[in-house]
Amino acid sequence: MRVVIVGGGFAAVKFARTLRGKLSLSDCEILLFNRENHMVFHPLLADVAGASINVDAAVAPLRQMLPGVGCRTERVQRIDLAASELEFETADGAQARLPYDHIVLACGAESNLAIIPGMTEHAFAFKVMRDAIDLRQHIVQQMENAEATTDADLRRWHLSFIVVGAGFSGVEVAGEINELVRSSTRFYRNFKEEDVVVTVVHSQAQILPEVAPTLRDFARKKMEKAGITMLLNTRAVAATHEGIELNNGKMLRGATIICTIGTSISPLVQNLDVPKERGRIRTLPEMRIEGQKNAWAIGDCSLIVNAFDNQPSPTTAQFAERQGRQAALNLVRILKGQPTKPFYFKALGQLCSIGGYQAVAEMFGMRISGFIAWFMWRGVYLLKLPNWSRRIKVAQDWTWDLLFPRDLSFLSTDSAQQLTHAYYRPGDIIHRQGEQPRTFSVIEEGQVEVLKTAPPSPEPRLVAVLGKGDFFGEEAILGNRPHETSVRARTPVRIGQVGSTLFRQMTSSFSPLRDILLQAFTRRSGDFWRRLPIAKTVLEAEPLSSFLDPLATTSLHKDTTLVEALRALEQSPAGELLVLDDNQHLWGVLGRDDVFHIIARISVSSPEEQSEVGQRKLSELLLGDPVYVSLDDSILVASATMLDHGLPRLPVVQSKTDLRPVGYLRGEKIGSHVIQKIAEGEKGHAQTAG
Ligand SMILES: Cc1cc2nc3c(=O)[nH]c(=O)nc-3n(C[C@H](O)[C@H](O)[C@H](O)COP(=O)(O)OP(=O)(O)OC[C@H]3O[C@@H](n4cnc5c(N)ncnc54)[C@H](O)[C@@H]3O)c2cc1C
Repeated sequence: MRVVIVGGGFAAVKFARTLRGKLSLSDCEILLFNRENHMVFHPLLADVAGASINVDAAVAPLRQMLPGVGCRTERVQRIDLAASELEFETADGAQARLPYDHIVLACGAESNLAIIPGMTEHAFAFKVMRDAIDLRQHIVQQMENAEATTDADLRRWHLSFIVVGAGFSGVEVAGEINELVRSSTRFYRNFKEEDVVVTVVHSQAQILPEVAPTLRDFARKKMEKAGITMLLNTRAVAATHEGIELNNGKMLRGATIICTIGTSISPLVQNLDVPKERGRIRTLPEMRIEGQKNAWAIGDCSLIVNAFDNQPSPTTAQFAERQGRQAALNLVRILKGQPTKPFYFKALGQLCSIGGYQAVAEMFGMRISGFIAWFMWRGVYLLKLPNWSRRIKVAQDWTWDLLFPRDLSFLSTDSAQQLTHAYYRPGDIIHRQGEQPRTFSVIEEGQVEVLKTAPPSPEPRLVAVLGKGDFFGEEAILGNRPHETSVRARTPVRIGQVGSTLFRQMTSSFSPLRDILLQAFTRRSGDFWRRLPIAKTVLEAEPLSSFLDPLATTSLHKDTTLVEALRALEQSPAGELLVLDDNQHLWGVLGRDDVFHIIARISVSSPEEQSEVGQRKLSELLLGDPVYVSLDDSILVASATMLDHGLPRLPVVQSKTDLRPVGYLRGEKIGSHVIQKIAEGEKGHAQTAG
């Protein structure tokens, strides 16, 4: 018989150990698939980030923990419950299938920063070991930056740390960062403990929803005493390079954002056709998946009702372990033809580290806090390690770390060599005129405004609007000079950014890219207007509305099918139609050129998708997010935008916030007006001269 376990966390390890203890090698092959070859002790991740323990103290090799269990590191991609087979990708990239007699899903949950705009781009997740290692590097780097800068505001920004969410992971990581940074200030000359700001932002009235109310209160008071600010009943609504925007409209500044909220179920579970509740797999009380004979779910990916209190089990390590053990015993009962037992567990107590060698604990009806609680907390995890040699090694490390200062070395990463992503809110400045260029930017979503300040006027003038697929920053990097314009977000914008050094390397070794950029240089509005100052004067005198053409009578909805849309396009004299959303706001533009792009996209899709293409909605086939201007823009900006994008026609909307289309601008209409005015000017000049 073969039992396959997917996952290698608390639930999976306990299941595998218990089952191995009950069934002999000849009776049962146990195979455990986990993406990493080790188990991660999540409650110790904060200590890794806070540099109070080494990485190896928070992980344990599965192979050594689980003798007699086959441990594999391939990622399981699909489970065919009907055929009792699982599918995974082998090390050389081939697809493989493996039959099983019983399968146990223990694949936990994944972090999902996408729930708040900008978090994916600017915040650290806190779920896997890589997150903790990267965060530790980043924190130490911020202290180095704070030491180096002479700007007091910037120093404070580097020393401000924001933790979003106050569950176990948020509380633990905030406590550890606070301790690391405050206890390290004595090694720096340019800042003191008072300069350090650690803030926890939490949407509820109390922290630690997983623990008893009295313990929560105690933990909060202790943390506040240690210098941590708690912003309760407050939500983060967006994250940017500056910090986070709160639901009360305020901006909380900080160079480090850690987002501990937002989990999603693994794609493996998402694609499984079984009953789920809030994304978690619903099981019977015995922990078999509802409707399945040989498939089980345990730990954070499952929703198991605890027979002790008839409540869904919380997603904690303690429950995951107990479920692992009791599910294994139930499988043995089934094999022996005995009745199974429902999951039943009376929690032993709760422990949570709050940083600075302090913890809060509730055990056997007693509440303990401080160093003793912390010592118990560490002891519990020590006992979970696979063998005594490892326990002694880890205990030695911990004692060493207790006696000596935390390690402040870090491996520097050169941002000029990196490819990153950034999110900006409307009005945020992306770079300022006169600043040295740091990145070449490509707009992935949204629009930006290019602004130029020219003396004597102190007010910046809008010179162009850039949209999805447009880029900026290349001129300053390649010309090795400061930016000649500022760039400001006009709508929420997502941008892909290439560090200046990496960009220089790419353009020097990749000539097609250099050529595209050179073409863009010459098209850029700044150059164009510099060479035609009369046209600029002519256009500045005219309001945009005087060039407006009426809208076509037909428009499309983003849910229109491709067949219907193409029929309408054939009838359109302009050769393009506006696509609107439910609010009648501009969502996209379907032009004749797009038909070929759609065909190109379909050509690389599966035969089934190809056969259904006619019925697909425009929203699935077009990119959306078109370039447009609004009535309050100048015709100068509009024409520069058309030139920049090579657009013969440009939609105009009511305003930047009201995206209902009001008309069109045509290149030839603007062009002929300019030429006519120039000609009239010349004639007048000639007459005066005559
Ligand atoms: C920072 C942090 C601190 C925490 N602190 C506490 C605490 O103090 N006390 C407490 O009780 N709980 C705590 N928790 C919660 C606790 O860690 C989880 O409840 C527990 O880890 C759940 O165990 P699990 O076995 O279900 O999943 P996990 O431990 O998450 O393990 C799931 C495993 O499955 C693997 N996997 C997923 N998909 C696949 C696939 N397709 N193929 C192969 N492998 C796959 C993953 O790589 C992972 O190793 C904390 C969690 C975090 C993130």
